[in-house]
Amino acid sequence: MPRPPKRRMVEFLPPCDHFKPAGVPLAELEEVQLSVDELESIRLKDHQGLDHEACAQRMQVSRSTFHRILRSAHEKVAAALTEGKSVRIEGGNYRLLGRHLCRQCGGLWRARDDEACDPICPHCGCEDVVKGVPTHRRRRRNRSHRRGGWR
Ligand SMILES: [Zn+2]
Repeated sequence: MPRPPKRRMVEFLPPCDHFKPAGVPLAELEEVQLSVDELESIRLKDHQGLDHEACAQRMQVSRSTFHRILRSAHEKVAAALTEGKSVRIEGGNYRLLGRHLCRQCGGLWRARDDEACDPICPHCGCEDVVKGVPTHRRRRRNRSHRRGGWR
């Protein structure tokens, strides 16, 4: 049996998962689907300005895989901008790092794989959710505490 493709690590879900050209009815628009891992490649390379090596490490893929993801992402965004298509961000082969935090009840839970871009709090059911809260925050604080010295 072939192994399932390796999931790409994603640290971020977009605040908005659908973009459309202004003034054109949705029904008349063609849509481009950008996967969540493709968006992550754009975010790391083009928005944060990391080099390919660092991006590949962050997403836990090889450099050539990262290059392929980024290229596909660029082609889709370019097509949308030049041909006036809407962009929907959904799907993809990824695992979300971090956890979600509910602004209403303070509930914190591990992001599920392939979770929708609009997670709902499993504790109180509300949608006022901060996505992808990094899980390494506490470890970092502990380290700096230790540097300060235990006396
Ligand atoms: Zn809640």
